[in-house]
Amino acid sequence: MKKHNFSAGPSILPQEVFEKASQAVLDFDNTGLSLIEISHRSKEFVAVYDKAVALVKELLNVPETHEVLFLQGGASMQFLMTAINLMKNEGGKAAYVDTGAWSSKAIKEAKLFGQVDVVASSEDTNYNYIPKGYSIPTDADYVHITSNNTIFGTQFKEFPTTEVPLVADMSSDIFSKPVDVSKFGIIYAGAQKNLGPAGATLVIVKKDLLGNTGRTIPSMLDYQIHIKGESMFNTPPVFAIYVSMLNLEYMKAQGGLKAVEKHNEEKAAMLYNEIDNNPSFVNSVAKEDRSLMNVVFLLKDESKDAEFLAACAEAGISNVKGHRSVGGFRASIYNAMPKESVQALIDVMKKF
Ligand code: PLP
Repeated sequence: MKKHNFSAGPSILPQEVFEKASQAVLDFDNTGLSLIEISHRSKEFVAVYDKAVALVKELLNVPETHEVLFLQGGASMQFLMTAINLMKNEGGKAAYVDTGAWSSKAIKEAKLFGQVDVVASSEDTNYNYIPKGYSIPTDADYVHITSNNTIFGTQFKEFPTTEVPLVADMSSDIFSKPVDVSKFGIIYAGAQKNLGPAGATLVIVKKDLLGNTGRTIPSMLDYQIHIKGESMFNTPPVFAIYVSMLNLEYMKAQGGLKAVEKHNEEKAAMLYNEIDNNPSFVNSVAKEDRSLMNVVFLLKDESKDAEFLAACAEAGISNVKGHRSVGGFRASIYNAMPKESVQALIDVMKKF
């Protein structure tokens, strides 16, 4: 039976990427060696790294002012790295928009390094919308947002316009659509949704923001050191970078992020349409803020939740149980999720 994995992450990648990756584990590029055993400083791997960086720059149209890094520690490490690299040592202050659990975790880490002003929050309604119409203090060192809220199914459709450097956790919608990188000070994303295997973390950082805090930063947390070392200050996550490179190549072959966006919009429209028109289900996210990546929905009769999950399992559908803080269901439909899988879920909902 065909399997349909709606996991919120780690999530599926294109079959072609899995196939090429598994071949490279056995024999990388006809070297007779596994990708996993070659030196990260070998010319073969340096070529992979350079290609991955070049593809990120090409797909996202990254300007010369910004550097691309592949680091470790996941997006969670970036919660503190962004703060330690940008917040002034004396009188440092940052603004945060709180749109859910991941924002809250970022806020907690930033508080270790200076003053944090939460300038807007949607906690009042369990994070079912993206706050709008707030002001950002002009003396903040930066403002931080979470562009897509994996747990609550909300997504920024427009980013705040501000003179203050904009930092975005794009873990769950990076590469799902074009973004204007020039508007951001830092973009970061754990790889394991739209990019590649867990273990690599993409960071795109505007170089002239760095080195201005007046604090001593431990080497492993210092973006400037990683830029100087071209992400090889220590051993980089070789396998994760390689698979990310394959997936970036795949995205390019699909026609780039405009084409990826169109596919994502069509898939999400199919699913939201079913939720809105099926009398058994409901989505309580503000319509204009609905995520194209993580579609959350509830059964009006919650006593049937287990029955619905069983019907999904019977159709080969896995990982649609909602996060415990929201309940109900969540279908994560990242780039690699085909329309046929979305249709398979819709078919179960229709029958239910
Ligand atoms: N930020 C967002 C929006 C996420 O969805 C996640 C994980 O799902 C994280 C951060 C944490 O990422 P990591 O596990 O790579 O630290």
